[in-house]
Amino acid sequence: MIRFSDIASAVKRYNPKVDIDLLQLGYDFAQEAHKGQLRRNGEEYIQHCLGVAQYLAKIKMDETTIIAGLLHDVPDETDGTLLEIQKNFGDDVAFLVEGVSRLGKIKYRGLSRYVENLRKMFVSVTHDIRIILIKFADRINNLETLDVLEPVKQLRIAREVLEVYAPIADRLGIGYFKGELEDRAFKYVYPEEYASVYALVEQKIHVREKYLEGIKRILQRSLKQEGITPLYVESRVKRLYSTYRKILKKGFMGIDEIYDLVAMRIIVESIADCYVTLGIIHKYWKPLPARIKDYIAQPKPNNYRSLHTTVFCEKGEIVEFQIRTLDMQREAEFGIAAHWNYDESGKSSRRVTKNLDWLQEFFSGRATGALTHEEYLQSLKLDVFQNRIFVFTPKGDVINLPENATPVDFAYHIHSDIGRRCAGARVNDIMTPLETMLKSGDVVEIITEKNRKKPSVDWLKFAKTNLARTRIKAQLRAQK
Ligand code: MN
Repeated sequence: MIRFSDIASAVKRYNPKVDIDLLQLGYDFAQEAHKGQLRRNGEEYIQHCLGVAQYLAKIKMDETTIIAGLLHDVPDETDGTLLEIQKNFGDDVAFLVEGVSRLGKIKYRGLSRYVENLRKMFVSVTHDIRIILIKFADRINNLETLDVLEPVKQLRIAREVLEVYAPIADRLGIGYFKGELEDRAFKYVYPEEYASVYALVEQKIHVREKYLEGIKRILQRSLKQEGITPLYVESRVKRLYSTYRKILKKGFMGIDEIYDLVAMRIIVESIADCYVTLGIIHKYWKPLPARIKDYIAQPKPNNYRSLHTTVFCEKGEIVEFQIRTLDMQREAEFGIAAHWNYDESGKSSRRVTKNLDWLQEFFSGRATGALTHEEYLQSLKLDVFQNRIFVFTPKGDVINLPENATPVDFAYHIHSDIGRRCAGARVNDIMTPLETMLKSGDVVEIITEKNRKKPSVDWLKFAKTNLARTRIKAQLRAQK
């Protein structure tokens, strides 16, 4: 069971200036709203809200995001409204909660041509990266209780995680979320493979970790002799799903060639120390050819930075070392979220580095120089599809329309007969005039009149798409 006080103290640790009273208010509000509700696994619903907040605290998110995490299911699952959230917690929290609720309405259809579109839309509908982060936390927590759902639903949700959520987390550099999402979904999408990889890794890991304990002692002694004091050295176990992906490449027989199944990670003070440490390792142990990777000089596309080398170690065993600074480690785990770090004086300061360029490029194609903090926050408000909107059918299918498109455009986009017989529209469950301009994320339902023979000539005054306009004209002509 997760307690609110645990989350509050976790947040306080990385952000001493956090407004604990406001956080508490958020918790009280969520608890009141979800009172009496149970999750499918029998737990109180508030445990889900706390679970989400806990994951957000793990990646050290700001207080607005934590509160929004606590409240994220209030508008859709309770009598509480967005308006109340806005009154009590302000525009920012309300904006994030609304975004999460919209994202919840996207449904996955599993067609491969659809996935890329869905990913783009996922990003465009959110406009603020923090919404995606809350959604990730929501999904990770839901994966924990997937067992109670029927198998078809389990599979749909887990697939969606592997095909959409995890790749986005990866692209945003959030290794921690990516790993959690993948390993939890892996079990449901490929149960047999999961079981074999799990068993195989279990069997190798203990011997390996024991061996690395010895290596760690030798390494620390050697580094000390050369004047390097690492911040810490640890062995890290490769995630199950990424082990599986590697096995797919090499085959199960090749598991002994997966040298980073358990790797040694060395965290040092500075970039210079990274290279010195690499040199020291190579002085004691011979590197394997073509296995030295300098991701500091050449970061991966998701901005991952580290030095990797694989060496012939004691007793001829092969070991991978990963060397990086604390900053690089944080960025590898938290990615874009690492930019909400808080220094010891409590300021939520953040130097914003050129490392964000990739994000800018990825989402908008715009080239940028160094960003100020303001510009950085602005850059999180993504507007990839500025001139396009994405709206949904009641079944969750996505319809892509130009900005300012109306329910009539939507109707013709689905089918010209639906257009012709269009009598009204419900947008987000509310009866709405046909000339209303739609917004991204709207759920649109067209009400048709069975016997209607022709469209209204007035529709030409507001229909935006060529498709709709041409069909309206043609149908009007045909009826004359
Ligand atoms: Mn939820």
